[in-house]
Amino acid sequence: MSLKITKPLRTGSTIGILGAGQLGRMLSLAAARLGLKCHIYAPETDQPAYDVSSAHTIAAYEDEAALRAFASQVDVITTEFENVPASTLEFLENLCPVAPRAGAVAIAQDRLSEKNFFEQAGVRTPAFAAVEDLASLKSALEKLGIPAVLKTRRMGYDGKGQAKITEPQDAEAAWQAIGARSAILEAFVPFRTEVSIIAARSTIGQVVCYDVTENTHKDHILHRSIVPATAHPQTLEKAKQAAITLAHALDYVGTFAVEFFIQGEGENETLLANEMAPRVHNSGHWTLDGCSVSQFEQHIRAISGWPLAQPVRFGTIEMLNILGRDIEDLPRFAHEVGTSVHDYGKKDAIKGRKMGHITRVKPE
Ligand code: AMP
Repeated sequence: MSLKITKPLRTGSTIGILGAGQLGRMLSLAAARLGLKCHIYAPETDQPAYDVSSAHTIAAYEDEAALRAFASQVDVITTEFENVPASTLEFLENLCPVAPRAGAVAIAQDRLSEKNFFEQAGVRTPAFAAVEDLASLKSALEKLGIPAVLKTRRMGYDGKGQAKITEPQDAEAAWQAIGARSAILEAFVPFRTEVSIIAARSTIGQVVCYDVTENTHKDHILHRSIVPATAHPQTLEKAKQAAITLAHALDYVGTFAVEFFIQGEGENETLLANEMAPRVHNSGHWTLDGCSVSQFEQHIRAISGWPLAQPVRFGTIEMLNILGRDIEDLPRFAHEVGTSVHDYGKKDAIKGRKMGHITRVKPE
């Protein structure tokens, strides 16, 4: 039986976070503002979240003794890392309240169950088909047509585990490129733009959405987010309704993101859901400096049994990710009026690694 938070956590209570990256760091900082402490659990040493949390445990996600000890020291457990094994969350659910619940995270970890779930919930997606081997890939290509995108069902992010197929004879190379693993084939969407919505659902089922964000990627990694998005009001409302529907259908507690493709223009726009992240999301970092309540604080409120607040946006916003050694240039943005700078405190500025971000706020 999974345990639930029944009254709001108060001063000095501790939130357990699985995962220790920048998302855990920003969650910890948000929790501190509400008088709450964080205990981080992750297998890696030297992680950004450890510097700003009151305790951390370095252990494997499969280490049951370490998980038990962790659960006994915290009041609620959450995750900042999408690919934490669902079995770890299930194990913890018997020991401590866990939010979001293991079942909701498990759906989002598997691209096929996620797309099936979107469909069942009435949220439109690109056409897709399950792929188990080269033969099923070939028949999926016949059904969906070319171009198409082959994606591993699990552990894909920032374009990893993906191959675009533009010619029928590319099928075998694409199958090998993704590691000949269970996969999903999607029709290639010639989208006009990509948007995402960040929303949160509380323990009593209150759902609050942020304004839809428009996102640009470089080399499959998020580069820039702007708010408000340049889409038709009807499309923006559809994105909001999709988030609300999915949150209730999953009995979700916490902050999450849904990413969409938009095809067409104006009233003819089509909104297709690409994926859902069962956690705070990079495209919601603008809420830290651009809103009265950030996605991180909203997550902490949601999992701690607090009321959620309708966020007030402070203007038009631009968020830029800082990757790799570009972090050395961060001070260059520090003098800009209306700009906030964030450095995640990571040691090694590896190429393509998310090291920090800046947010520019222009009052409307
Ligand atoms: P994902 O890992 O599913 O978020 O995909 C990473 C990026 O690849 C997306 O942000 C898109 O730019 C692109 N992409 C993924 N799926 C499709 C698709 N079906 N059609 C066109 N572009 C796609």
